[in-house]
Amino acid sequence: MLLKNVIGQEHAKKGLLDMYQSGHLPHALLLVGEEGYGGLPLAWAFIQYIMCEHKLPTDACGTCPNCSKISKWEHADVHISFPSIKLSSDKKNLSKYHIDSFKEFVAQTSYGTCYDWLQFIDADNKQGNISKDECDEIIHQMSLKSYEGGLKVQVIWLPEYLGKEGNRLLKLIEEPPADTLFILITSAKEDVMPTIVSRTQLVPLVPIPANYLYEELVHKGITDPTAAAQIAQIAKGSYAEALHLAKQLDNDLFADLRNWFNALFAKKGADIISFVEEYAKKGREQQKNFLHYVMTILEQAIKARYIPESHVNLPDAEKQFVLKLASMQLDMDQLQQMIKEINDTQYAIERNAHSKTQLHALSISLQFIIQNRKWMGNVY
Ligand SMILES: [Zn+2]
Repeated sequence: MLLKNVIGQEHAKKGLLDMYQSGHLPHALLLVGEEGYGGLPLAWAFIQYIMCEHKLPTDACGTCPNCSKISKWEHADVHISFPSIKLSSDKKNLSKYHIDSFKEFVAQTSYGTCYDWLQFIDADNKQGNISKDECDEIIHQMSLKSYEGGLKVQVIWLPEYLGKEGNRLLKLIEEPPADTLFILITSAKEDVMPTIVSRTQLVPLVPIPANYLYEELVHKGITDPTAAAQIAQIAKGSYAEALHLAKQLDNDLFADLRNWFNALFAKKGADIISFVEEYAKKGREQQKNFLHYVMTILEQAIKARYIPESHVNLPDAEKQFVLKLASMQLDMDQLQQMIKEINDTQYAIERNAHSKTQLHALSISLQFIIQNRKWMGNVY
């Protein structure tokens, strides 16, 4: 994994490179960010950079023996622990028993969530954890001499799964043997023992900007540009979420939005009803995704209206739609009321409210809000 292949996180990348290049790399780092922001790939790429034999100024070479071993998680001095389950009752719960699955998992994408990972190893409903035995294994590994005579690295992906067993690692993280580096990657810092957190240097990660997600989805050929633009808007900065959405979205959200809004703005009752009936047949996830998408479009319209210099980062058709909405005589209050109504509906649908009733009620209240304005013709 090369740093340039980690999506976004420019600030964190620069921070890590600065620490290393200035000779002030702490012996324990804690990467903090939601699942899907890219903590694991960032840690992976940074380790490869540190261990690379022919480093470039801001990245590993990608071709030296160390790069090649690390890119396959096969370097003898780079260890990783992650949530896992017992393979059988007579076997300890150790990450090394799952390492082949793990390599396969991250080869597909290193942006997967813990849930994706546990699904991948068929954990079913078993709760994954990082066990007491795994802690002992870490302590043992780190007490051995480095195989290749250089740095030894221990990655702990999701230390929130250590629970109280984390106590066992305190001394090691506080007074590590020479030439060791710990990189912990968490998506729930509040669930990591404070005594561990306080012994590490925090590296905050940020949501991945929509345009980066868009580029990645299109560049990797995961979806077409139309779907990619919609997914990028609703993935909340998470590439894992974007990948999930890419599997789920089977329709063009923009086309749906345009039909619905045209019916609402033009007061076409029959069209509104057929839209509601169509959408009520879709799964709850689809309905929630759609409503989330509509809210992001309305938010963009508010931005375009009130911060005119802000750049609308959308494909052309959607951009024109947003600008048209922004130029209508809907004031800030109306746009915000619309967002609130949609948000409430999304919340209700999430809690299993009857979606047809909800979507119908939503259409009516949006119409009321819209009619408060001066009639300007079709949105589109
Ligand atoms: Zn290299």
